Amino acid sequence: MEIKSAEFVMSNSDVAKCPKNLIPEYAFIGRSNVGKSSLINMLTSRKSLAKTSGRPGKTQLINHFLINNSWYLVDLPGYGYAKVSKSAKKTFQKFITQYFSFREQLVSAFVLVDIRHKPQPIDLEFMQWLGENGIPFSIIFTKADKLRPKAIENHIEDYKNILLETWEEMPNYFITSSSKDIGKENVLKYIDDLNNNMKIN
Ligand code: GDP
Repeated sequence: MEIKSAEFVMSNSDVAKCPKNLIPEYAFIGRSNVGKSSLINMLTSRKSLAKTSGRPGKTQLINHFLINNSWYLVDLPGYGYAKVSKSAKKTFQKFITQYFSFREQLVSAFVLVDIRHKPQPIDLEFMQWLGENGIPFSIIFTKADKLRPKAIENHIEDYKNILLETWEEMPNYFITSSSKDIGKENVLKYIDDLNNNMKIN
């Protein structure tokens, strides 16, 4: 899919105020600092559509971007940042739960995980929660440039082993690097195929 246009639409903390139009939407979420802003910029070929920040935990809003006038890319807040207060964590949980529970336009979520780390409970718990609530998701492994191919394979194997303890199949996944422009076409093609499927049905 060629990205012809990518526009910021709105930011808010209330799912009821998100755009009302019924166009397909894809949500990107992961731990703070996982590389979500960089990934969004890579996918949209824009240098600073999503702001990359050295201040994790500061972007606590639901951000809608309209892509090619036909689908929304949604940048959700990063989770699991230790320095955020307990009450901020609760507020976060509430509106993320509401977003996923009420957003009918959502076609799929993308859960970002840093390929360098072993499977982390916070990410696994979040995937479990999505599964239990019937929300389709794919995993996007980020920062693949930081590991050699063999290590990437091993880390994905670790994920498979853990996820297959509770899931029948390994969720769909993508290996990406925003620094090296890896994985972009695969993610965009996946979204394009889902969008086209919806037009047919
Ligand atoms: P966010 O907090 O999840 O939005 O993460 P950012 O996109 O702001 O990235 C967090 C840090 O990881 C920044 O220092 C980025 O330069 C770095 N980073 C992001 N993506 C990559 C990548 O693909 N490879 C490498 N090596 N570093 C990355």
